[in-house]
Amino acid sequence: LTDYEGAFWVLCDLVDRNLLPVTTELLGCAANLATKRGRKVWAILLGSGVGHIVPILWKYGADTVLLLDDPALDGFHDEIHADLVVRMVKRYRPEILLTGATAVGRALAPRIAIALNCGLTADCTGLDIDPESGALLQTRPAFGGSLMATIRSDRAFPQMATVRPGVMKALSPRPGASGTVVRESAETTMALAESKRLEERVPGSEGANNFGNASFIVAGGRGMKGAAGFRLLSEFASMLGGVVGASRAAVDAGWAPFGMQIGQTGRTVQPRIYLACGISGQIQHMVGMQSSDRIIAINRDPDAPIMKMADLAIVGDAFEIIPEMMRQMRQTRNGISGLFTERNDNSSNADEKRGT
Ligand SMILES: Cc1cc2nc3c(=O)[nH]c(=O)nc-3n(C[C@H](O)[C@H](O)[C@H](O)COP(=O)(O)OP(=O)(O)OC[C@H]3O[C@@H](n4cnc5c(N)ncnc54)[C@H](O)[C@@H]3O)c2cc1C
Repeated sequence: LTDYEGAFWVLCDLVDRNLLPVTTELLGCAANLATKRGRKVWAILLGSGVGHIVPILWKYGADTVLLLDDPALDGFHDEIHADLVVRMVKRYRPEILLTGATAVGRALAPRIAIALNCGLTADCTGLDIDPESGALLQTRPAFGGSLMATIRSDRAFPQMATVRPGVMKALSPRPGASGTVVRESAETTMALAESKRLEERVPGSEGANNFGNASFIVAGGRGMKGAAGFRLLSEFASMLGGVVGASRAAVDAGWAPFGMQIGQTGRTVQPRIYLACGISGQIQHMVGMQSSDRIIAINRDPDAPIMKMADLAIVGDAFEIIPEMMRQMRQTRNGISGLFTERNDNSSNADEKRGT
């Protein structure tokens, strides 16, 4: 290997020259994997006027930034961007290439994988590495989410995966961190493009909550019984300064809009506290919220799957427990921290985890 070959690459995802959080999450993941295998992390940054992002990438774990900064790369053009990434991969030969499972990542990754004749695992929820062979172990829901499959595609390189936003954790920023920049010209490939960009429109986000910034998410499921139950959750969420989420059962019943759905076919979230109210915790829901810092579940059924993964499992009727929590919060004026004593253990014993 030369000193640039075999690196772990993260393809940066930008909107209006701003970095999306999924890129820092992927850098954190790539940095952890690279340590196990003694490799470097590269961020590949394409755009026009994007040089200001380089120090951010260093701060979040990139050793090297491969920068293609060119007016021809203004806006997103999948054919041109994919062609450039393919050229860069052939030149620098990374071992792994990760992208977000975002609109941009989902448009680019298949084009790149086909051009390079390598594998691609989409929508991963977990990544690990075999330090000896370098095989990327790519975990994702399979068979409609009824099981989690771990996939290897290490017969052709690079090993490619897309990862949903909110699944991985970004590293804590390293203040003043610096690294290397490798500048490459964009060698304008406009002529390659068979499609033309006429206009760019940001899709409407009706009913969607700003989950990305939320410290608290109060999510409701079928157990909230109807729109009135969701009004209660909404009141509770605003007391906490949080936002409301929903299971698919609640969305299908019309109690909450699709933009609020959390899970495999909805959004992936990782708030400080996820409060699941009347949600059973099927795997398709769990994959969307399992990276939350703390999970509190309120459920009448002590054996519901969510009660086993919750840090605090409250057995009872949500329509009695939530108003009581709100009453106590008003009384103590201490926010949610006034209601619970934090637990520090990582015990997996469900009975130990249950509280009242
Ligand atoms: C391909 C595929 C994709 C899917 N994608 C998603 C997805 O993105 N997100 C998602 O959420 N689901 C998804 N699902 C559906 C998923 O399998 C479950 O059906 C769904 O998550 C169940 O929602 P729920 O927990 O609200 O309902 P239920 O499973 O019916 O659970 C309701 C819970 O409420 C409790 N309860 C009832 N009354 C009360 C009360 N008064 N107080 C407290 N607790 C009470 C019950 O004990 C029960 O545990 C998907 C399924 C498939 C096949």
